[in-house]
Amino acid sequence: MNDIEFLQSVNHKIPKKRPVKLISDYVEGRRIMPVDGSPFPSPWRNSVTPYGIEIQNCLSPYSPVHTVVVKKPRKVGMTAIMDNVVLYWLFEVPSKVLYSTSSQDLAEEWSMGELEEAITSMGMRDRVVAKSYNAKAHRSGSQTKFKEVIGGRIDIISASAMTAKRQKNIRILICDEVSGTKKLLASGEGDWTKVLSGHTASFGSRAKRAFFSSPTVEGECLISEMYEEGTQEQFLIPCPYCGEYIFLDLMADPGEKWGLKADTQGGVVKQAYYVCPSCNEPIFDHQKKDFYSYHPACKKHPKKELKPAYWKATKTIADPYYRSFGLNSLYAPLGMVSFTQAYNERAKAQAGGPDAMRSFMNLFAGEAFKEVGEGLHIKDFNTLRDNWPMWTSPLSLLPEPDHGLRRASGKRNG
Ligand SMILES: [Zn+2]
Repeated sequence: MNDIEFLQSVNHKIPKKRPVKLISDYVEGRRIMPVDGSPFPSPWRNSVTPYGIEIQNCLSPYSPVHTVVVKKPRKVGMTAIMDNVVLYWLFEVPSKVLYSTSSQDLAEEWSMGELEEAITSMGMRDRVVAKSYNAKAHRSGSQTKFKEVIGGRIDIISASAMTAKRQKNIRILICDEVSGTKKLLASGEGDWTKVLSGHTASFGSRAKRAFFSSPTVEGECLISEMYEEGTQEQFLIPCPYCGEYIFLDLMADPGEKWGLKADTQGGVVKQAYYVCPSCNEPIFDHQKKDFYSYHPACKKHPKKELKPAYWKATKTIADPYYRSFGLNSLYAPLGMVSFTQAYNERAKAQAGGPDAMRSFMNLFAGEAFKEVGEGLHIKDFNTLRDNWPMWTSPLSLLPEPDHGLRRASGKRNG
């Protein structure tokens, strides 16, 4: 082989195309959702979960956004959206990725289940390699705790594990089930999300950090706290009747004329629908395909071109590149959670007491649960206490006649 031939052979290996700019474009029609486990076994279509387009694209290399927070209910397809982001950063722009979740079991399940399946479905199996191959060990590039791919690597950890602290120089940080882990590390190093974010520091503005979770209880819910630090965006859909852009509010005041309502017959819910706050027309489940369309239209102005549903910030913050998004079950893809199911779940929770309400708020409303009643704070305890000697109790000072409650003050009775 002469020099020219060598140069030509090397040249063949250089990528000939620039990477696809947007993650949503990278996966569209390309990732195949499996028959087992996916509610939509078919090539990936962004139109099924249109709220995910912006979320994925914020995490694309050309977006200036550095942090994405998603506070979500169950069954809105967010895990699959997160997988798309991982696939892009492993195979389209190979990088060092760190994925964390709330337990070792979940980490292993995701690593050997969903991620493996996604890699195969993208036709990327041959890009998974063992970099430090040892003939004796027969090491494979695909391990439970990490995967090595040509040009990149992903480490998969549990957020509270010791390995979390040892990670160095990560470009892409993806944290799932954020609220499933306590905020402060037991080791006294503070907020674990800050510790993990610290590992992305050397990439500066090229680093990306994403945090996903269902919320838990107000006051101790990490994803809610992070959501409030960001732009707090709501997904606005065009009403199929009047064309106004509305937020689907699962927890609207029942006294209002708009919101999630239902027709009932003999006490049984026949069908639920969402009443538009602007025109008071009922929007039904099957109309999701209209208001989630890339070219939506409305009955009132049939010729008017409406823009598709979009995210709108409800808070202006100093750093617009810290974006936080909130969803509830009314946004679930057609065929996953219906308006009627959401209505029934809400009614059941309202009748079922605090525990039922708590899981409804977390898993359907995508909101932290506010506990009713005031707990006793250590501060109150310190203010209210008196200076009692050991082995005495306030009851010992009760006036006679004694009603048999003085047993506690052992010393005086003795
Ligand atoms: Zn309307």
